Amino acid sequence: MSIRHIIWDWNGTLLDDVWLCVDVLNGMLAERGLPPVDSENYRRRFRFPVVEVYRDFGFDVSNGEFERMSHVYINAYESRRHLCKLHAGAEELLGELKSAGLGQSILSAYRQDMLDSMVKNMGLSQYFDHLAGNSDIYAASKVDYGRRLLAKIGGSADEVLMVGDTEHDHEVAHELGIQCILLEHGHNERPRLEKTGAKILPDMRAIAKELGLRNKQP
Ligand SMILES: [Mg+2]
Repeated sequence: MSIRHIIWDWNGTLLDDVWLCVDVLNGMLAERGLPPVDSENYRRRFRFPVVEVYRDFGFDVSNGEFERMSHVYINAYESRRHLCKLHAGAEELLGELKSAGLGQSILSAYRQDMLDSMVKNMGLSQYFDHLAGNSDIYAASKVDYGRRLLAKIGGSADEVLMVGDTEHDHEVAHELGIQCILLEHGHNERPRLEKTGAKILPDMRAIAKELGLRNKQP
């Protein structure tokens, strides 16, 4: 694999936040008397646009309800996001990749200002050349601003790798004409990811190995 820049997804890929998303969702379901979901059910159904996930779980998404719920969801998520950590080995890998001379960026459905502040608060800004977030909170698609990010990165697209955790990350990589690896520790279960035909890896250690880092380790 000849790679000079990695585009990371944030939620679920670098950040271990599935537990918080499920918890926030269950709070909203309980308020409406709807049954709770477990993380397996969530990972089986999560997709973009996110409005479809809300509909699946029984929410009324008509007449502005989805937009109202998105605000409630984000407020609940934001109030506890500081409890989320990166996945095991993530920061170590970001450091190794930077030392190896690779560029790194984040492309996230998370709103730009929230992404900026979270990355900064977690002391991770040093690893990234660009942080590309969404202009709103409704998580529709990352393709448009993914294109803008790729233009900023410049050079040949086939030396850019997307690392994500959802079918949508694969779709975005396909639209952008870049390589893609999906991690199975995030918002989609492995059988969903397998349908994309992308390479699927279990964790950060496996990515390091795939990229030719840590070859000398036992
Ligand atoms: Mg994600």
